[in-house]
Amino acid sequence: MANIVAIVGRPNVGKSTLFNRLIEQRVAIMDNQSGVTRDRHYGRAEWTDHFFTVIDTGGYVVGSEDVFEEAIREQVQIALDEATVVLFVVDTMSGLSPLDDDFADVLRRSKKPVFLVANKAETNERRQAASEFYSLGMGDPYPISAQTGTGTGDLLDEVIKHFPQGEEEDPDAGIPRIAIIGRPNVGKSSFVNTLLGKERNIVTDIAGTTRDATNTRYKAFGKDFILTDTAGLRRKARVSDNIEFYSTLRTIKAMEASDVCIVMLDATRGLESQDMTIIGQAVKAKKGVVIMVNKWDAIEKDHKTADVWKKEINQRMAPIDYLPIIFTSVHEKQRIFQVMEKAMQVYENKSKRIATSKINELMQPEVEAFPPPALKGKYVRIKYMLQVPTPSPTFIFFCNLPQYIKESYERFLENKLREHFDFEGVPLTLFFRQK
Ligand code: GDP
Ligand code: GDP
Repeated sequence: MANIVAIVGRPNVGKSTLFNRLIEQRVAIMDNQSGVTRDRHYGRAEWTDHFFTVIDTGGYVVGSEDVFEEAIREQVQIALDEATVVLFVVDTMSGLSPLDDDFADVLRRSKKPVFLVANKAETNERRQAASEFYSLGMGDPYPISAQTGTGTGDLLDEVIKHFPQGEEEDPDAGIPRIAIIGRPNVGKSSFVNTLLGKERNIVTDIAGTTRDATNTRYKAFGKDFILTDTAGLRRKARVSDNIEFYSTLRTIKAMEASDVCIVMLDATRGLESQDMTIIGQAVKAKKGVVIMVNKWDAIEKDHKTADVWKKEINQRMAPIDYLPIIFTSVHEKQRIFQVMEKAMQVYENKSKRIATSKINELMQPEVEAFPPPALKGKYVRIKYMLQVPTPSPTFIFFCNLPQYIKESYERFLENKLREHFDFEGVPLTLFFRQK
């Protein structure tokens, strides 16, 4: 599910430092997987097996110190609407500021859990100074140091208690959840309208109790699926500065709640870095991905153009080269059902469970033909492997010296898995364990 933790607070209290602290571990694990640069304002984090997305709202504000501008007020409101939990950061070094009161005024009216985070509390003196923030009426302050990490564990222990538990009795279990995402103006709304247009047949429209209000179940062209809405389909931000912030939040939310993301690109604009960030995030979140290059009608092309596009996308996303790419025109209804077919296929690939005997039968010969290179005179032996029953395909390779498996060898194994089993559009996870 889509757990979003938003960090809010006035400038210089340490929001971006806290953001970096929270996503730090994940970045170390995951960012070696691709050349995609990470967004400085949002990222995935993990605490004791709970996954969530952290947003540094400060990164989106161009506000100044002294006025609680409309833009900031609205941004806090958006964060409140969209986030699961809000971290309200204050500064024990500079103490209480009138701007903190302004934030508190908005936050106090929210029904979402808000944690008052008293940052920069490295010394006893500052930990004690944290008590002055009681006056904000936001409950107990959590003294932490974003810089050293002190106190962040205790904070996160409490934060994760507010994540929705389990998915018991989910009437939609097993129904593919599809998110249609992409930058503004790529054609998302046009696509959804064309796809569902007059035949739109909403099976259920779940109003937001514990579930996301944005999930709508459809039956269309013989398929049963859930669309997780994105930017533009609901409310728009009033202050133009916040449009990017709002659409980012909606994108992340829809992405997190989905099984498969259809990432739309605009053929008239080419592949832009924001597109790559979106694709990279979906892959990191272990979602199935279909790339849809839209407005194909609007560009000059010959019989090679599609291949050139494919090559460029694969090159720039390297080593991620397993995502299906479909060239469409929503206006001319070209290949738009094919996109949905592909999304369903990717969903099947993602749900696939391969028998242990089958994996070993096909993969052992690959390992024998090309064993892991010896390191410091030690031989690494992979004994057997299996797939674990997780929401996205995950494989464990049991071996004598897991720490000696290099990234290049991991990539070799991943490629071999992809050769033997169809995992088109699906990120794979490989673990190496001592046997
Ligand atoms: P933001 O504007 O709220 O995102 O604040 P930043 O994360 O940019 O931090 C503002 C300043 O406070 C920087 O100089 C940081 O190095 C410093 N800072 C952030 N967290 C801590 C902390 O836990 N302890 C101390 N002593 N300084 C911190
Ligand atoms: P969204 O912001 O991603 O939801 O994008 P919209 O659906 O609002 O579309 C943005 C603009 O692109 C509109 O003017 C559409 O008419 C146009 N558009 C959408 N799909 C296509 C297409 O396949 N070809 C062309 N030429 N224009 C398109």
